[in-house]
Amino acid sequence: MTKVLHISTECYPAAKAGGMGDVVGALPKYLNDQNVHTSVIIPKYTTAWIESKKWQKIYDSTIEFGDLVVKFKIKKLKKSDLGFPLLSVDIPGYFDRSSIYLAPNGHGYEDEAERNILFQIAVLDWICGDKKSFDLLHCHDHMTGLIPFMIQHCPKYNSISTTPTFFTIHNGQYRGGLDWEYRHYLPKYNLEHEGLLDWDGLMHSLATAIKCAWQVNTVSPAYMQELKQEFGSLTSLINHETRKCTGILNGIDHEVWNPKTDQYLDIKLTDSINTFKQKNKSQLAGDHNLYKTKMLVSFIGRLAYEKGSDLISEALDIVMSKTKDISFILLGSGDATVADQLTLADQKYKKNVRSIITYDEALAHKIYAASDFLIMPSRFEPCGLNQMYAMRYGTIPVARYTGGLKDTVPDITVGGNGISFDHATAGELAHAILRAKVIFDKKKELYKLRYKICALNFSWDHAATNYAHQYNLLINN
Ligand code: ADP
Repeated sequence: MTKVLHISTECYPAAKAGGMGDVVGALPKYLNDQNVHTSVIIPKYTTAWIESKKWQKIYDSTIEFGDLVVKFKIKKLKKSDLGFPLLSVDIPGYFDRSSIYLAPNGHGYEDEAERNILFQIAVLDWICGDKKSFDLLHCHDHMTGLIPFMIQHCPKYNSISTTPTFFTIHNGQYRGGLDWEYRHYLPKYNLEHEGLLDWDGLMHSLATAIKCAWQVNTVSPAYMQELKQEFGSLTSLINHETRKCTGILNGIDHEVWNPKTDQYLDIKLTDSINTFKQKNKSQLAGDHNLYKTKMLVSFIGRLAYEKGSDLISEALDIVMSKTKDISFILLGSGDATVADQLTLADQKYKKNVRSIITYDEALAHKIYAASDFLIMPSRFEPCGLNQMYAMRYGTIPVARYTGGLKDTVPDITVGGNGISFDHATAGELAHAILRAKVIFDKKKELYKLRYKICALNFSWDHAATNYAHQYNLLINN
């Protein structure tokens, strides 16, 4: 049986900040069904979930880190009901924080680089020190991007230097470009290969991963195509490495995201999807002081430039100037300016708009269940999971034509699954919402589309088969 270790800074439900957490918490279960015995290792944060569990120490050691000697422990979740073994790297002082990436001031931690480097070294030290044997290491995003380099070029890791590495780009915007000073924190490496660490004059975690990993993928085929056309200074690199680069569309966890059994819903799907939606809408609207029967449009996501969340308040002004027959519920956290815009919109359109500026997993599930439409005005979207969750709950996506949204939300005019628009502007978003209103008012059309999208299969089975196939090609090479 093939043995694979996923190395990641997120894994739902232990620690999630976005889609990568969902992927790492789901894909391993489905890989296990494909005879790929998959374990996951993450940093041991102090999230509520991690703190509530019992962990067993399986290894401890120290890392010489510049002038410091840093102690670490590898711990294993005692009783895992996740469907895969979960391990964690406990490094007191660096990871014992409840927030994964953000300090209380809303900015990234100042010691982000040290944290990422320490995590990667600790994982490799444990694998070699404890003589663990994995057939393949699967690394996720730039936070683990130095691993493919280190195992090949640090003599300390000679014993695993031929282990294949798989690297997934969940979001190419975050690149982990580090000042060259940080090279002193890496274990001794063969200087002849230092060029592999270099891109844009930085020690560049993402570029290094693209150069050194045996296989690189993005989380949708369309996003890989886009990176090959426009990836800033990395465009030439990804084209140079094109032979080993693919796109595999993410799936969704059908156990967690199941309207029939969803633990966060008081009203579950029993027979009719229309009744399910109407009852959930009525409950949510009641809880948030919105109209119970008007068309309900939602947004769930990070308040970040890439998500186009800054376009929403202007689009609301346009829509509200045309009709007050639509309600909006907006759930997000992130950029303070966008948060202020959404809060203002809530105050301005008290009866129609509710803005909830927080991260709330339970509320997100309730919103997917209750909404008629979900907007995703993304400037780019490596895959996007929200549109797939929405569809499973009978909510029609209104999405910009980019990245994974191209693969999953073709426009209804071409027989697709939702409303698609070309440009990330407030005007196009407003126009798309007004198109949604036309569908909402023609109940026959609305119900037909609803039935169609909730029957679509976005489960992980397909992607897991694809990953398993690619792993086997590398392992048996
Ligand atoms: P990304 O990883 O770029 O943030 P994805 O669409 O891949 O975007 O995944 C987003 C995930 O995070 C989804 O599960 C979504 O429901 C969840 N999410 C985002 N923001 C919030 C929030 N404020 N509250 C609850 N869940 C959220």
